[in-house]
Amino acid sequence: MTQRIAVLGATGSIGDSTLAILAAHSQDYEVYALSGYQRLDKLFALCQQFQPARVCVPVSEVDSFAQRLNEAGLRIDVVSGDRGLIEIATDPQVDTVVAAIVGAAGLPSTLDAAKAGKRILLANKEALVMAGEVMMETVKRHSATLLPLDSEHNAIFQCLPLAIQQDNTQIHTASHGVRKLWLTASGGPFLHESFAQMQQASVAKAVKHPNWSMGQKISVDSATMMNKGLELIEACHLFDLSEEMINVVIHPQSIIHSMVEYRDGSFLAQLGSPDMKTPIAHALSYPARIDSGVQPLDLYALSGLEFIKPDLQKFACLRLARQAMQAGTQATIVLNAANEIAVAAFLAEQVRLTDIADINEQALSEIQVPLLDAHADIDDILAIDALARRYTETLVAKIAYGT
Ligand code: NDP
Ligand code: MG
Repeated sequence: MTQRIAVLGATGSIGDSTLAILAAHSQDYEVYALSGYQRLDKLFALCQQFQPARVCVPVSEVDSFAQRLNEAGLRIDVVSGDRGLIEIATDPQVDTVVAAIVGAAGLPSTLDAAKAGKRILLANKEALVMAGEVMMETVKRHSATLLPLDSEHNAIFQCLPLAIQQDNTQIHTASHGVRKLWLTASGGPFLHESFAQMQQASVAKAVKHPNWSMGQKISVDSATMMNKGLELIEACHLFDLSEEMINVVIHPQSIIHSMVEYRDGSFLAQLGSPDMKTPIAHALSYPARIDSGVQPLDLYALSGLEFIKPDLQKFACLRLARQAMQAGTQATIVLNAANEIAVAAFLAEQVRLTDIADINEQALSEIQVPLLDAHADIDDILAIDALARRYTETLVAKIAYGT
């Protein structure tokens, strides 16, 4: 039986890798729906190549995109905006939703895919950072399946016992002998540079990751190590663990993608070339295995693998993520929102790379938000997100314009 796939965020980096695998296995997977946002020429080319049944574009583009498809003789249903993403994510024809939109914009469609009981391949880590409890609870209640695409979480998933893999909403990791999870981090482009050098970093340098090729936002997050902070929070929710159970270790070669430490002293690791096609192929075909097209690791050519403890002064965002996780969901929502605004300001050259951590820290300590309990709903979450964004914009303005 072919699996029908919706790729939300099809025009991005994860979208590219996913579609390359789907194209190579077209007998097993049907590209049923795609979404894009700004790169609509690329989305149009993807529509020509894959001829999906449905496509989602921003509300302002729906008429012109539909006309363009029409003129090219492509009969594709065009939907738009957040509502369109939700329509696709919950479409009864769809088996699997690849959640690969960047940032908070990916949350509503991912959550609704869970409500519709879909198999969700999750790249959009921000959805779990903002709404971890709600998301996991929804997955459980509606018997959805959540498979992590993020390479570290996918690696951990692969190293966990089968019983946990088969029901990742019922994890009692402790009773399976798990002592700790180890998230590996590359350390990003500034690992061997001083804080002062990091302060002067250009956008071009910050987005040039040493091992992985990724979208701009996650590349900046890797440079500040906020990415590892977001991943720590993501792992707490996915694997039902408190933050002290998760260690972060810098491993500049990005060969080991993460590890599970067991009570008996065993460390299980997943290794591979740093290419997102491996975790994507794993999750697409789970529990089977398909060819991802990734170059196999050449173990003979590998020289030393290093492991380094992160410097929490230089990479303060990692410390902030632990602090926010301890404080609760309201704090992780604030941190995520503040970080999105701060990263956008850095990409627009309004603030320095090192200002991002300061802005995030200020937002966390100054924004007054209500405590969220396990019964919070999406509106409560989005209200805190909106408040945090507005406040952070004022913090950015103070730095950018010296007001
Ligand atoms: P990209 O920036 O390359 O792609 C983001 C995608 O989201 C694009 O399709 C973009 O459309 C779409 N998009 C952006 N803003 C909106 C919006 N407001 N509404 C609807 N769609 C929108 O990012 P990546 O592919 O690198 O990352 C995607 C997600 O996966 C992120 O959450 C990231 O953290 C996570 N991830 C990525 C990894 C990687 O290797 N790239 C690794 C692990 C996780 P358009 O391009 O048309 O504007
Ligand atoms: Mg990752």
